[in-house]
Amino acid sequence: MADPPSHFTPEELERWRFGLAQANLNNILCHCRDCDATWMASDDENIACACGSRRVEHVACWQFPDG
Ligand SMILES: [Zn+2]
Repeated sequence: MADPPSHFTPEELERWRFGLAQANLNNILCHCRDCDATWMASDDENIACACGSRRVEHVACWQFPDG
């Protein structure tokens, strides 16, 4: 199981968990290492952050155990 960053507030944690749920609906959870944005994508190719960074971390949904 992926652990959320320890500095997350409860509200941020909720959004983080919601992001994981969305990742199960799509395929890939993307995380920008530069601006810390997260979003969902259905393909792990040609994914760049809206900030222009390509230092993006991709986490496939199958890496999240369900339940
Ligand atoms: Zn970014």
